[in-house]
Amino acid sequence: MNIPATFIKGLVGDDPILHTTKPYVIFIGRSNVGKSSLINSLVGTKGMAKSSKTPGRTLQMNVFSVADKVFFLDFPGYGYARVDQKQREKIRKMILWYITSCDTLDRRFMVVIDSKVGITEYEEEVIAILREYDLDFYIIANKIDKLNQSAQVKLVRAIMLHISEKNCILYSSLTHRGRKELLDILGI
Ligand code: GDP
Repeated sequence: MNIPATFIKGLVGDDPILHTTKPYVIFIGRSNVGKSSLINSLVGTKGMAKSSKTPGRTLQMNVFSVADKVFFLDFPGYGYARVDQKQREKIRKMILWYITSCDTLDRRFMVVIDSKVGITEYEEEVIAILREYDLDFYIIANKIDKLNQSAQVKLVRAIMLHISEKNCILYSSLTHRGRKELLDILGI
């Protein structure tokens, strides 16, 4: 089932669209965890979240209107920690700015990880910020299709060190496992 979704705009800073009564679902994750694939899988439209990868736009937050009900806010992904310190710092500041400066009441954060990689120091840092500001967040373990049953159990245990089981979603953008569960959570 496709869900009507449109790209609204890319932002590099504040914008009136961030100050709205509509709920926001915010996607945060490192490059290559499959964040674009996850968004495309959720709405059922291939290529929708692609614009985030256009060269020169890698540092913008992309806003999508989904089902006329919620906005998706896709934060830029970034490369691996040590290689990309500068970009990491910029994105970290952007996340902090967004968390502290935007007054949208209904915000839910989706921290997307690669199941094969697990939770890295980057996600730990993001989780610490979200906790500090007492924000509602989920961990989406994408690419779960790459893990066998026992590896899945291990991963869930590791995630539960950070969050309760109900806020941990095992997802595959390939098979769409977890899609219904996540759409239900988002009320879409
Ligand atoms: P992004 O950089 O986080 O937006 O990642 P992409 O969506 O571009 O995905 C990165 C790579 O992971 C691509 O080769 C995708 O085909 C692959 N990928 C994404 N999601 C999944 C998944 O759920 N399962 C598997 N097996 N591969 C995935």
